[in-house]
Amino acid sequence: MTVHPRLTAVFEEVLRRNPGETEFHQAVREVVDSLGPVIDARPEYADAAVLERLCEPERQIIFRVPWVDDSGVIRVNRGFRVEYSSVLGPYKGGLRFHPSVYLGIVKFLGFEQVFKNALTGMPLGGGKGGSDFDPRGRSDAEVMRFCQSFMTELARHIGEYTDVPAGDIGVGTREIGYLFGQYKRITNRYESGALTGKGVEWGGSLVRTEATGYGTVLFAEEMLHTRDRSMAGLRVVVSGSGNVALHAVEKAQQLGAHVVACSDSHGAVLDEDGLDLDLLKQVRLAERLPVRAYAERRPNARYSPDARVWDVPAEVALPCATQNELTAADAKSLIAAGVLAVAEGANMPTTPDAVELFQNERVLFAPGKAANAGGVATSALEMQQNASRDAWTFDYTEQRLADIMRGIHDRCAATAEEFGAPGDYVVGANIAGFTRVADAMLALGVI
Ligand code: GLU
Repeated sequence: MTVHPRLTAVFEEVLRRNPGETEFHQAVREVVDSLGPVIDARPEYADAAVLERLCEPERQIIFRVPWVDDSGVIRVNRGFRVEYSSVLGPYKGGLRFHPSVYLGIVKFLGFEQVFKNALTGMPLGGGKGGSDFDPRGRSDAEVMRFCQSFMTELARHIGEYTDVPAGDIGVGTREIGYLFGQYKRITNRYESGALTGKGVEWGGSLVRTEATGYGTVLFAEEMLHTRDRSMAGLRVVVSGSGNVALHAVEKAQQLGAHVVACSDSHGAVLDEDGLDLDLLKQVRLAERLPVRAYAERRPNARYSPDARVWDVPAEVALPCATQNELTAADAKSLIAAGVLAVAEGANMPTTPDAVELFQNERVLFAPGKAANAGGVATSALEMQQNASRDAWTFDYTEQRLADIMRGIHDRCAATAEEFGAPGDYVVGANIAGFTRVADAMLALGVI
């Protein structure tokens, strides 16, 4: 694809201003490469320097997080919150606790979040945060002390109308609980709408835990319908075995798919009998053990260290682990095995050359900013329940999620068609997300 000269200049400026932030460069590049047709059709966007402004977050906060480990040693981590864009609503996006976290990762995630949140059609700005803290191997008390220290600084920056964090890798209901407890203590307010992903007993929403994984599969199902296919009876592989992956497995199985593989950062499990979800949840969520423990308890399952699920033949592939985990070599083996659809449950898990291979082969490909938007959309439903002091049923909330995912799918498909790229969900998602943010930026003036 030839890139518009104006867009090339924008991208070069991003490289110059943000040296070494490779994931951020990759995320910007991928969006910029899609926007040529819209920049030509709507010169007012270029006149108002919309993209130039969008490449610079509204605010970036970096802070020290000191805490004391169980042996009394003082530890220091780095905390981040990138408040990216607030033209559509309060900054909204998760917190990631993982040793790989640095400013470039948080900016890439924040940038993606802006477009993702816009695609949901809901009143959400975009942001992201986290820390290089590694919760693995830490005791519950250590995780609590870390979360309390993290929130002691973060509290002054967030709020129901300002910035509403949630979970991401390494941050689940337990961490949100400790963060919310500290926020409540510091502010002396039971401000439920300041954080999402809360436990259902203390202001959380049913379906929020399941939402990202469920939404990814619902999106894949919508794509398959455009080719008169459905998940029922298809072979599926899922990477990862965290919250997103497990609930993707669950929804795929509910739709009648045969899910045969999943993984963790150490290796992969192949189970030709179909994954036993109860056992997988027991091992991964309840006991917090690696997937190897699943294979040890399941007679026909095979665990291979350092293996990847992409070598297992499948018709649907769901990357639900982390960025850049599905490479061109993986795409080739999936294509050779006859893959029909790929939907990203994680953020930017597919490398750009792998995306190109899928698209050249007409494999249905859903970018994360569309396919995994169910999580943040259900966070918005949690905020609605908090604001109205209500609690919805599981079925009602899941129905809302399904409607939202269908809406995102149809918006992406219609936009791709309108801009001359039918069936290209990358172009559709980027342009549909961008125009919603850009129109709000035009309306709100130079801010
Ligand atoms: N971390 C999730 C995402 O990437 C959820 C964000 C949220 O619920 O605010 O979309």
